Amino acid sequence: MDFFGFKDSDLYAESVKISDIASQYGTPLYVYSKATLTKHVQAFEAALKSRKHLVCFAVKACSNLAVLNLMAKLGAGFDIVSEGELRRVIAAGGDPSKVVFSGVGKSESEIEFALSQKINCLNIESPEEIDTVIKVAKRLNVVAPVALRVNPGVDAKTHPSISTGLKNNKFGVSEELAFDLYKRMASEPCLKVSGIDCHIGSQMTSVEPIIEASEKLITLYNKLLSAGIKVDHIDVGGGLGVIYDNETPPSPEEYVAPILKKLEGLDVALYVEPGRAMVANAAVLLAKVLYQKDNGDKHFVITDTAMNDMIRPALYGAKMTIINAYKHADVPAVKSDVVGPICESDDFLGKDRSLSVKNGDILVVRGAGAYGSSMASTYNTRRLCAEVMVDGDKTALIKKRQSFEDIWKDEIIPE
Ligand SMILES: *Cc1c(COP(=O)(O)O)cnc(C)c1O
Repeated sequence: MDFFGFKDSDLYAESVKISDIASQYGTPLYVYSKATLTKHVQAFEAALKSRKHLVCFAVKACSNLAVLNLMAKLGAGFDIVSEGELRRVIAAGGDPSKVVFSGVGKSESEIEFALSQKINCLNIESPEEIDTVIKVAKRLNVVAPVALRVNPGVDAKTHPSISTGLKNNKFGVSEELAFDLYKRMASEPCLKVSGIDCHIGSQMTSVEPIIEASEKLITLYNKLLSAGIKVDHIDVGGGLGVIYDNETPPSPEEYVAPILKKLEGLDVALYVEPGRAMVANAAVLLAKVLYQKDNGDKHFVITDTAMNDMIRPALYGAKMTIINAYKHADVPAVKSDVVGPICESDDFLGKDRSLSVKNGDILVVRGAGAYGSSMASTYNTRRLCAEVMVDGDKTALIKKRQSFEDIWKDEIIPE
């Protein structure tokens, strides 16, 4: 559910016409809907209200400070994967005590910074990382709150590039190792065994994989309890899918309900780490049509927006809905590839789309809020694009269009 919709022939973001936003701020442009973001955070909070919980928004999905600030105000915590993301959360007014830190390659200095900021939990992903956390905790003379990211060997039934819970993925430690590693962590005075964690993949459109993973975490929870090790939270990670095209993902409530049911009778908090489901459909990416041409049997719609602004189609073959912000009554639909100006054959936003387009039109890539702006680059020395947040009938610039000089400001020509 989102707040982008047509009134007559024009697409609106909440109460503002998309074409007006494009004229005011230029293109390429990310446009977020505050009402949609709010609704998504509240949907997770409501789904979890019957149990002690923490909704940790996965910062890597969309890291704009304005988005993080809104989520923090709505009570969300954060899942981070780098020191930079923790610094962003703090800069956005987020509370480090609601932050969990995931990732297979946390450096010693990142762990030190996280512990000095008193984050909620370090989700440890290897036996060697345990050694590093112990070393840093001793040096700082603190007790480090830790969980182990268990790789439950569950198939998330999603695209191979975004599947993370299979035995041959780099993430987490195997179920077989987990119990002994927990015993070792529990015997270390400078560690507080705080949780059990997993994250099995992204864009999951059914609940079965997450139920299967939860069952495995609960089995481990009970086994640890029998051994005298009591964790205070179970973290089932993120991965809830969204509608890009014709998917039918569960709602946050449908996704969380079976997990809550399995947890009945257990004195343990539930953490979730949604990224995509919180932000994907809360933003669109605007692209202006520059030219059209035919090569062989293909019709190309060439826009000012490219794979550096939105890499998902090129990187994962992601199919994202593309519509015209204005519904023409008199322009026939043509099957088109929507492409950008970058010198790569994979520079496309969509292929074989039926579109009624005139040059100068604003095309709208829907579902652009997750892994869009946060994956953008300056490839081809294209500036990172501007971002706007709509709130009712108001718009606010939440990221300035980068200047050209900013692209190369850290580069040095030697004497
Ligand atoms: C990326 C990631 C998430 C969020 O995944 P979504 O599919 O965007 O919900 C959550 N937890 C971890 C550890 C991640 O790496």
